Amino acid sequence: MRRWCNCKQTMNLELRTVIFAKKIEIKNVPVFSCMSCSTYEVLKPVKAHLTEYLQTIEQPTNYQVVMFSEMNEVANLICDLCNRKPELDSDELANVMDAYKQERINLLLDVYQCALQMEDKPWMKDIQRRLEQLSQFRFEEHFSEAG
Ligand SMILES: [Zn+2]
Repeated sequence: MRRWCNCKQTMNLELRTVIFAKKIEIKNVPVFSCMSCSTYEVLKPVKAHLTEYLQTIEQPTNYQVVMFSEMNEVANLICDLCNRKPELDSDELANVMDAYKQERINLLLDVYQCALQMEDKPWMKDIQRRLEQLSQFRFEEHFSEAG
């Protein structure tokens, strides 16, 4: 599976730092990038969340560093996978992504049981949101064989 750039080169999955308004550094944003023409695009299921987040930011006064992987579960999954398996290329990542996604969903479901027992509503809501992000994420949708 490959993702093709407009310049006919393959794009690789990587984590980037996006700087917003010269004041906010958002780390661990998953993007597809092209080595040959420096084009990059934020992963589709992540883009909506990122845009939404940027809209909530008031005029920033202090320089801030934000970890996108802490607020978005898809970014978190990719970040974790890249840390655990740095040797994998985009092709191999695609092969293991589903298994990792399922593993994380199972983990979150366990954590949800904890939150439920503790009747911790904000925590439950946070886990639900993360589960939603993960279940809507289909890595294979980002690829086409056509080129
Ligand atoms: Zn390109």
